[in-house]
Amino acid sequence: MKEPIENSSVEYWVNSPREMAKLGRNWAQYVQRGCCMHFEGDLGAGKTTLIQEIFNGLNVAGPVLSPTFSIMETYTTDLGLELLHIDLYRIEDPDELLLIGLDELDKRDYAWFIEWPQHGVGIVPSADMRINISYAGNARKVAMEFNSAVPSTSCS
Ligand code: ADP
Ligand code: MG
Repeated sequence: MKEPIENSSVEYWVNSPREMAKLGRNWAQYVQRGCCMHFEGDLGAGKTTLIQEIFNGLNVAGPVLSPTFSIMETYTTDLGLELLHIDLYRIEDPDELLLIGLDELDKRDYAWFIEWPQHGVGIVPSADMRINISYAGNARKVAMEFNSAVPSTSCS
């Protein structure tokens, strides 16, 4: 994967789940505390699959679940980095997120992976990286925009 540079963008064509796994595992090296990633794309595009592969690349112990019903799952990497995986698909009003205390979390404490961030506008941290996945059959186009240099202290 190309090194993320501030205010740059990059597109990857991914032809199979296997290639998506490779991209995710390669990506793991760029994940850091304080960084927020927004994942956009239709249902079934591969947002959860990609996030699971990034987590595998970070050696998260145990299975990585989809937080579609739980809204939020947390994981800790073998290096002690805390990962927040949030899926806002079922959220109809961003205020619902106040009930689970999302607004009280400090952006700087976690690496954030947010699916359907548009359902949490005003509550979820803004994106250091935006990822949009579009698809046709088994092929995926993964478009990334880097708003902050990653890795960098400017993330949080
Ligand atoms: P989302 O979280 O965007 O709703 P999921 O990751 O849950 O999507 O589902 C994506 C589905 O598409 C999975 O069943 C996965 O196996 C399948 N799939 C097929 N081809 C690919 C590919 N190239 N990359 C990622 N997922 C793929
Ligand atoms: Mg999903």
